[in-house]
Amino acid sequence: MKIGILSRNRNLYSTKRLKEEAIERGHEVRIIDVLKCFMNITANDPSVFYQRSAREVEELHFDAVIPRIGASVTTYGCAVLRQFEVQHTYSINESIAITRSRDKLRAHQLLARKGIGQPVTSYAHSVNATNQLIETVGGAPLILKLTASTHGNGVLLAETKKAAEALINAFRGIGSDFLVQEFIKEAGGSDIRCFVVGGKVIAAMQRTAAKGEYRSNLHRGGQAQVIKLTPEERRLAVKAATVMGLDLAGVDILRSSHGPLVIEVNSSPGLEGIETATGINVARTIIQYIEKDSLQGPNLLKGKG
Ligand code: ADP
Repeated sequence: MKIGILSRNRNLYSTKRLKEEAIERGHEVRIIDVLKCFMNITANDPSVFYQRSAREVEELHFDAVIPRIGASVTTYGCAVLRQFEVQHTYSINESIAITRSRDKLRAHQLLARKGIGQPVTSYAHSVNATNQLIETVGGAPLILKLTASTHGNGVLLAETKKAAEALINAFRGIGSDFLVQEFIKEAGGSDIRCFVVGGKVIAAMQRTAAKGEYRSNLHRGGQAQVIKLTPEERRLAVKAATVMGLDLAGVDILRSSHGPLVIEVNSSPGLEGIETATGINVARTIIQYIEKDSLQGPNLLKGKG
């Protein structure tokens, strides 16, 4: 197959591993920086062009694409992916599913609609609602999240009601969208990353925050180890990925006193942490899944998502 990996950085571990495994399995692979793509939007001959250099432009054609679109380029990256979809190119994750997962509020609403357990979350725009926002999630301590946060950067713990009010007012002051969320203290700074491919959890790890930190992101010094999931956690992870319409997803779960709760569904989950912690060849599993699934045609035509 001709596979295009849509990634801005060919040196990233995940990009390199996917390329390596695809080549190993006999595929032709290109890494494509979405910001160097441009397109013509017509019904007859929709194309994606790639600016190879100042003078050189080529038209791209792939049998399958693997989107690894960074959060900072979601809008344009998804526009390029959509153009591949217009051409009926297979993509393991569809653009609409990626867009959904990138907006935390939208993702929470979609998951709630399908009855998936999540921490109690509230959201509002009016300054006067600060008190109700805080009370809805059971008061302080509570978590505040910028809706476009990644790597835990926009996730803050407000230990007191006063701190919560100050942070809410500050977020409003700068016009940022945010969520107010129940703090799951009993998770003890740990979360579980379930790696879902094609409706199955193929690997899982527990991430534990560094001392004095409540965010377990590996980018923030969290430590990873293998974990055995309960059947309930496994089902929850698969259901969350399915609801979002993602064939490839990293579903993050917190173990709370009232059962497992989904905090995030990531459409470009990193491979380094999970492969290192579990020893599972996640990249190869993804490529093998694409080989099989793409035989049935583009995701879009299968009505997924
Ligand atoms: P990001 O997408 O920026 O990584 P997450 O929502 O995944 O944001 O949160 C980052 C980390 O913060 C999680 O991995 C988890 O350890 C911690 N965390 C997030 N939400 C909660 C919560 N409601 N209660 C306790 N810890 C949380």
